[in-house]
Amino acid sequence: MTNVQAEVKVVDLYINGEYVKSSNRETFEVKNPATQEIIARVSEATREDVDKACRAARRAFEEGPWRTMPLAERCAKIRRMAEIIIERKEEIARLEALDVGKPYPVAVEREIPRGAHNLKFFADFMEKQGGEVYPMEDEYLNYTRYEPVGVAALITPWNAPFMLTTWKLGPCLASGNTAVIKPAEMTPLSVSLLGEIAKEAGIPDGVVNIVHGFGETAGAALTTHMDVDLISFTGETTTGKTIMKSGADSLKRVSFELGGKAANIIFEDANLDKAIPVSIQAAFLNSGQVCLAGSRILVQRSIFAEFVDRFKKAASELKVGDPQDVATNMGPLVSEEHYNKVTSYLDIAKNENSVLVYGGKRPELPGYLQLGYYLEPTIYIQENPKARIAQEEIFGPIVTLIPFDTEEEALEIANDTEYGLNGVVWTDNLQRAHRISHNVRAGTIWVNCWFVRDLRAPFGGFKKSGIGREGGHHSMEFFTEAKNICVALK
Ligand code: NAD
Repeated sequence: MTNVQAEVKVVDLYINGEYVKSSNRETFEVKNPATQEIIARVSEATREDVDKACRAARRAFEEGPWRTMPLAERCAKIRRMAEIIIERKEEIARLEALDVGKPYPVAVEREIPRGAHNLKFFADFMEKQGGEVYPMEDEYLNYTRYEPVGVAALITPWNAPFMLTTWKLGPCLASGNTAVIKPAEMTPLSVSLLGEIAKEAGIPDGVVNIVHGFGETAGAALTTHMDVDLISFTGETTTGKTIMKSGADSLKRVSFELGGKAANIIFEDANLDKAIPVSIQAAFLNSGQVCLAGSRILVQRSIFAEFVDRFKKAASELKVGDPQDVATNMGPLVSEEHYNKVTSYLDIAKNENSVLVYGGKRPELPGYLQLGYYLEPTIYIQENPKARIAQEEIFGPIVTLIPFDTEEEALEIANDTEYGLNGVVWTDNLQRAHRISHNVRAGTIWVNCWFVRDLRAPFGGFKKSGIGREGGHHSMEFFTEAKNICVALK
C-alpha cells in the first residue's frame, strides 16, 4: 500500500457524549509526515470548549451513575471498550501510521493491541482490589476505601498517542473518575475514536471527553480549570514544569512521565547476537521517537570496534520508507518542526567532533515521499560523554556510541544525565547485572532485554524524567483517594 489517504478527515471535539465543532468554528490542519499532504481538519478547542468539557466531566462525576454503579458493571463496560478496539485495530493502526508516521506493523501488532490491553488490564485489576480492614480488639472496626478523585485531565504526546492515552484512561475510568483527554495536536486521529468507542461500550455521556488543540491554549485552559482535580501528563520535561506551575493554584494532583536519555551498556561478555538487534530496536524504533530509546550506547573498549561494525551493518539493513508499507522498519519524523530540531543535532555533532559512522542525511526514497520528514538511521562515536548529543534528548534516529574501560566508568557515564527514565545492561555476569541495576539511577532497568513490560510493575522516572509511577497499584493510588472509616462497635 502506498497511500491510504482518501479524503481530508474531519475531527471534532467530543463533549458530553457528542462530537461537536469548536465554539468559534476554528480548525487546524494535520499533515501526513511522510508526504506533507493535509490529512485532517481538526476542531480547535477554545477556552469555552474546554470549560464545557470540564463541566460535563464534573457533572458526570457528581451526578453519576459512573462513580456509583456496581464495580463489575463499570469494569464490564471498560472491557467492552477493549474488545471494540481489537475489532477495529487495523483501522486505528492505519490512522496512527497516517498522522504519526509510525510503521503500520508496529501500530497494528503492538501498540493498538496494547491500547486494548491497557483498558482490560485495569478493569480486571480494579475488580480484584479490596480495601484494608483493621479490627481494633472488639471496640472498633477500621477500614479503608479507595474512592475516585474526580475529574482527570489526561494529556498525551504524539509519539504513541493511542497507547499512552489508554494507559491513563484505563485506571482513571476503572477507579470511577471522569476524564477530559487532550491528545497532541499533531496526532489526534486515533485518540479521537475513543469517544465513539466509549459510547458504543455503554460508558455514560460526560465520562469521557476529548478536546483538541495546542498546549498553550487548550492544554493551559485544561490544566488551570477549577473542575479538574488531577493531571496525568506524558510529554517533555519543560512542559511538565509549566503544567506543574499552572496546576499549583488549585493544588492539582500530578503524575508526570517525561523525557529520557537512556544508557544502553554493553559489556565485553555480552551476547552480541542478542544485544545488537535489540539495541537497533532501542535506537531506531519509531525513528527513535521513544522516551525509552537507548540513545546512548556505552560499549566496553575491548569490543568497541567489533560492535561498531556489526551495529552499523544492522542499521544499514533497516528499511526506511512509507509507514503504510508492511515492509517498512522506519518512517519519517513527525513534523517539520521536529525534523528541524532533530537534524540541528547533525551540525551540533559535527561541531563537537563526533565521528559519523552511518547515516546523517535524507535516505533515497520514491518520488511521492520526497517531501517527507525523513532521516537515515544515524550513528555517531563520541568519546566525550558531556557532548550535547550524549546529554540531550534528541528524540530522533540519532544514536551516540561511547566507549568505556571499567564498570565504574560505565556507571559514572550512565548516571551523568539529568534524566532517569530507564537503563539497559548487557552482560553474562550475574553479579554485575545486579550491581549495575542497583546503581543506575533510573526507574526501569532491563538486563539483556529492552521494552519488556508487565503492566503490574511500576513505570516512571527518577530525576527530571518524571514524578510518580504508573502501572498496577501505582496507577490506582494516583487515581484514587484513600479514605479511612472507623466504626465504634459498642
Ligand atoms: P510535549 O510536552 O510538547 O506535548 C505533550 C502534550 O502536552 C501535548 O498534548 C501538548 O499539546 C501538551 N502541552 C504542551 N504545552 C502545554 C501546556 N503549557 N499546558 C498543557 N498542555 C501542554 O511533548 P511531545 O513533543 O508531544 O512528546 C515528546 C516528549 O514526550 C519527549 O520528551 C518524550 O520523552 C516524552 N515522552 C515520555 C514518555 C514517558 O512515559 N516518560 C512517553 C512518551 C513520550
